[in-house]
Amino acid sequence: MIRYNSPWLLAGGLVAAVAAAVFVGWGRVRSVEVPRPARWAHVASVCPGPGVRLAEPMRLLLTHEQAVRAEPGACDGRSAIHVEISEADIDRLRPSEATWDAVEVRGVYERTITLGTITDCRVYVADGADTAAIVHEVAHCLGHDHPRNAPTGHVMHPDYARLGLSDWRGVTP
Ligand SMILES: [Zn+2]
Repeated sequence: MIRYNSPWLLAGGLVAAVAAAVFVGWGRVRSVEVPRPARWAHVASVCPGPGVRLAEPMRLLLTHEQAVRAEPGACDGRSAIHVEISEADIDRLRPSEATWDAVEVRGVYERTITLGTITDCRVYVADGADTAAIVHEVAHCLGHDHPRNAPTGHVMHPDYARLGLSDWRGVTP
């Protein structure tokens, strides 16, 4: 017979509640390792192509201490982070099944690394791409990759549905 006022039941419930709180709390405070295989040798210029709205993405990147500088327009032929609207390039660079990355459907990046230093990067976004997609792809251009076991809400989360703009652990220096 089970007695519902059993002290064991109460103790079990308390243990489960504490375990759940510890698990959630750990997810918020644990450090997040964001791989960074390369970086720029200097502050990276970010150059918008026609129709790209960079104001809010740049504000967020600067708030989180990323070494970027906004340019007023395209930087053809210059070493920079070029952000353009291009469905054709999204299709061309759409990740393979092996590196499936839901966010990359709204944006992709093409990073040029020379002797361990990023020397150029192109971001292609869909028309109407939101701030989160642009920030995520520009962060790739700054050398940040996806963390393993990324917490929900992290800016470098590989799944667009769980990507957020509040958690910059491992990205902010
Ligand atoms: Zn990504």
